Amino acid sequence: MKNYHTHTFRCNHADGDASDYAEAALNKGFTLLGISDHTPLPDNRWLYMRMGLSALPAYVRAIEEAQSKYTDLIILKGMECEWAPEYHNFFEDVLLGQYGFDYLILGSHFFPYGRSWLSSHGDITDASRLIAYTDFLIESMRSGLFAFVAHPDLFGLCYMDWDKNTEAASKEILSAAEELKIPLEINGYGLAKRRVRASTGERTAYPWYQFWELAAGYDITVVVNSDAHYPSHVDQGILKGREMAKSLGLTLANLEALQGR
Ligand SMILES: [Zn+2]
Ligand SMILES: [Zn+2]
Repeated sequence: MKNYHTHTFRCNHADGDASDYAEAALNKGFTLLGISDHTPLPDNRWLYMRMGLSALPAYVRAIEEAQSKYTDLIILKGMECEWAPEYHNFFEDVLLGQYGFDYLILGSHFFPYGRSWLSSHGDITDASRLIAYTDFLIESMRSGLFAFVAHPDLFGLCYMDWDKNTEAASKEILSAAEELKIPLEINGYGLAKRRVRASTGERTAYPWYQFWELAAGYDITVVVNSDAHYPSHVDQGILKGREMAKSLGLTLANLEALQGR
């Protein structure tokens, strides 16, 4: 089993460090583990859910220590990033360049709307916001910096009912993924923990099943990760997500190239 998406205590809403995840992953029979905490940003924005810039060297050290201690496991140095034009050079020059990160994940937790920034977790409550989220997600995908897109269907947390707007947004995201050849993530944390009540009853918030049903009609690949925030959750949702991908005929992405960066 492989997992490219985990968080450490540094993001303020998770627990454990790289070595704790490595220990848990080895015990559960994983062959590859990617550590991918929420990136610090050069202006230290949105600090309540991420490390500050000053924590970056210690994060990198913790991963490198785990790599030298757990040699039976391939451990990759990753980061989950919200892209914005002003952060592009930091991701490219500092994370990928200076620190030699193996990969970056696009995790679009915020998006610009009018003059402010809205939360993808709570604010996508009408068609116009859904369009703004979708447009910004696709612009971020076009940056060319990311190995895959985490939870592209995150809007399922707050946009409650499937309709023509969710269908249009999903098709745009899927077309962009096909064009850019960027894998999309079926998120294990969502599968295991995120339920919402829609007018038709309770459903998994994300992965939103209808999104992935549509995905089957596109020439795209998918990656299934746990998005673990605790070491003991390192495998959460992965088997279930893989079953879902298989039943829909979705192709799993081959991310082996990330190991040789
Ligand atoms: Zn998180
Ligand atoms: Zn995450």
